[in-house]
Amino acid sequence: MIATLTVPNLALAAAIFLAFIGGIFVLRLLLPGKVHLGQKLKDGSRRSYKLNGLRILLVLAAILALGQWQHWFSLGTAIRLFWPLFAVANVFAVVHTGYLYVTGIKKRPRNDGPTMVPGPDGTATMADAASSSLVKDLWMGVELNPELFGVDLKMFAYLPSLMGLWALNVSFGVAQYEALGHLTTRMWLYQAFFTIYIVNYYEFEYGMLHTWDVIAEDFGYMLVWGDYVLVPFFYSICGWFLVGYTEPMATYEAVALCVLFAVGFVIFRGTNQQKHDYKEHPEKKIWGEVPKAVGGRLLVSGFWGIGRKLNYTGELMVYFSWTFTTGFQSIVPYLLPLWLLCLFSHRAWRDEKKCSQKYGALWTEYCAQARFRMFPFVY
Ligand code: NDP
Repeated sequence: MIATLTVPNLALAAAIFLAFIGGIFVLRLLLPGKVHLGQKLKDGSRRSYKLNGLRILLVLAAILALGQWQHWFSLGTAIRLFWPLFAVANVFAVVHTGYLYVTGIKKRPRNDGPTMVPGPDGTATMADAASSSLVKDLWMGVELNPELFGVDLKMFAYLPSLMGLWALNVSFGVAQYEALGHLTTRMWLYQAFFTIYIVNYYEFEYGMLHTWDVIAEDFGYMLVWGDYVLVPFFYSICGWFLVGYTEPMATYEAVALCVLFAVGFVIFRGTNQQKHDYKEHPEKKIWGEVPKAVGGRLLVSGFWGIGRKLNYTGELMVYFSWTFTTGFQSIVPYLLPLWLLCLFSHRAWRDEKKCSQKYGALWTEYCAQARFRMFPFVY
């Protein structure tokens, strides 16, 4: 039964939520990890990041598996406490934003900004930096790289965010097992797809250092809420539609979903990897050839020569593949890939405005070579 928002439930949810985030933070501090350099900052320096997400995920998985196996707790509790946890996460996001504002505002005028200072619509102008207001500062943030005890808080937020999502997804699996005594094919596929996605995500954690959020966005409520609330609590939506769904799945349907997932995954991961490799080692071959780049700056080999945002396309295919495991019982789980489609379309537009401003004529030339954004011959 789903718990309501009573004081005991909220207190229990708060204890679980804080232990989860606190535990991950301690693991971030203590576990070893390879140190990677971030993109160049305005002053020419590069921040170093100790990245150990995969190790943290393995430790977390071991703790949860042990606890479940030894009956110290049931992961199904996370589903029962879904709404109290959701409420606590929202309060946390507000408090965290307040903390980021109070600590960040003291450091103004900023000297750690990126080469481009982005406004809310992605354009980068000096006027944006000057025209701050309290609401805008809280929403967009006031500091590019806030940190606590040497841990970069923006990069850190990806840990509880996706690990929280993973834990909720696994909880749906546990809840189904407790109810039915087995997992359906649909649930197996869902768990397998998401586990591959998240393991790979942390294996490639260093790739995040070249993403728009990390290089150009200050850390404010928009990103905090996205990381701590939207991702775990909305992105797990398929679980609700799988947990009690016993409609069998035909073999050909399962195979088709595996193919969709695999192709999407290769495009998503391949595109991001190619850009990362090009930024770090411009001579490293792509598909067997030395990479070509417009003006020596904009990669036009591999996936980046076919479309300008194929990483978004691949990720959408991945999300559609696990949403299809819910069948066609309801439109609601499809809100997730549809939401991503809107987010990515808007994001691609914002990012292109930024790139056009940064690269000027080179960007126009690049767009002439890589004509499509996300869907070749369509968009
Ligand atoms: P990108 O990884 O595409 O990064 C955009 C930046 O890459 C540009 O600003 C530019 O930065 C650089 N760039 C663009 N084109 C080229 C090129 N041809 N050659 C070299 N550099 C280029 O986008 P995002 O940061 O938005 O997304 C990163 C990943 O995160 C994606 O895979 C996306 O799917 C995923 N994502 C997932 C979300 C989710 O909710 N699941 C939400 C958001 C993103 P520079 O100025 O450094 O050159």
